[in-house]
Amino acid sequence: MGGFRYLKARGTAAWVRWRCFKKDHGCGAAVKTIDGEIVSMIGEHNHAEHTFS
Ligand SMILES: [Zn+2]
Repeated sequence: MGGFRYLKARGTAAWVRWRCFKKDHGCGAAVKTIDGEIVSMIGEHNHAEHTFS
């Protein structure tokens, strides 16, 4: 999912809404996925992309 990390917020068998991993730090970005593909993005991140090791 790009360079951002998300936490599962809620969803159904058909779709899942994910909140940004940094939501507790004021980031309001979220995405909605259907079958693992992002179908909509909500808000903007207030930080740089995460780096993965
Ligand atoms: Zn974010």
